[in-house]
Amino acid sequence: MTAFVTIADGVHLVRIPMPGGGLPYSLAYLIEDGNGRLHVVDPGSPTVEAAGALSRAMDALGRSPEDVAGIVVTHLHADHAGGVAALREATGAPVLMHEREASAAAAIVRGLPSPDFAAWGVPAERRPELAAASSAPSSAALPTPDVLLADGDLLDVPGRRIRVLWTPGHTPGHLCLHDEEADLVFTGDHVLPTINSGLGLGGPTPSNPIADYLVGLRRIGALDSRALPGHEEPFTGLAERTAALAEHHLGRAREVAAHPEGTVWDVARTLTWTGGWDALRGFTLLSALAQTALHRDFVALGGLDAG
Ligand SMILES: [Zn+2]
Repeated sequence: MTAFVTIADGVHLVRIPMPGGGLPYSLAYLIEDGNGRLHVVDPGSPTVEAAGALSRAMDALGRSPEDVAGIVVTHLHADHAGGVAALREATGAPVLMHEREASAAAAIVRGLPSPDFAAWGVPAERRPELAAASSAPSSAALPTPDVLLADGDLLDVPGRRIRVLWTPGHTPGHLCLHDEEADLVFTGDHVLPTINSGLGLGGPTPSNPIADYLVGLRRIGALDSRALPGHEEPFTGLAERTAALAEHHLGRAREVAAHPEGTVWDVARTLTWTGGWDALRGFTLLSALAQTALHRDFVALGGLDAG
């Protein structure tokens, strides 16, 4: 496999292997600035293989760790941000993330409450597997920031105009980056070309993650730039893709709204799931129930009325 793929002038994609046998890799990006230094977007998983892929790409570009001027993470998940501590150590470069993502990471470290499985109507015999799944995430791979970003900030990347766009939903402080002159948008897990990212996967939020996500989809869709996602492949047609994702969630909300009575468990059983309801176990079952609960809250908050 080649060490990197050049996407545009000074923008390079690096495939970072992912452990766990799910998706094969996450996508990191190396952005060159006007001073010949590099800015890394989403270094990837906290593994030797991931760090190796990134350093091979830098070698192939003729750069060394000291040339890294900044490390930006789109969101706190380990497949994007797990490698930041090692990369900061190797390069001395600051880690940048959205201020809301930093507080979400801190809340996870303090320990999140487990969902109320009884209130969700989960049968008693299925609760232990959900309890085990909900206590799974390790805080060891969570990023800590050196610089907090806010919506609308321009990154300090000499020679380029790269703007921070806050796109909550997948996680509370997920961000996308818009390279305004090259007309590229780094979409993280906010928009992937074929996968529908799960929502609400960064701890509780004061607002509904689906409502937040739909706002972010409209914003990113309106750019209609070439998309550089956190998985799969770069793609065009962002307006179409964001519209399809919005329709997916609105359709799911309509399905949920058709069952106003009953518990989250009862409603989730009536919905269509990839692989079928009976195949859901442990984390996938937890995720299905959590997504159903979010859609139900979204409906209760009048999300479908807002159009
Ligand atoms: Zn991801």
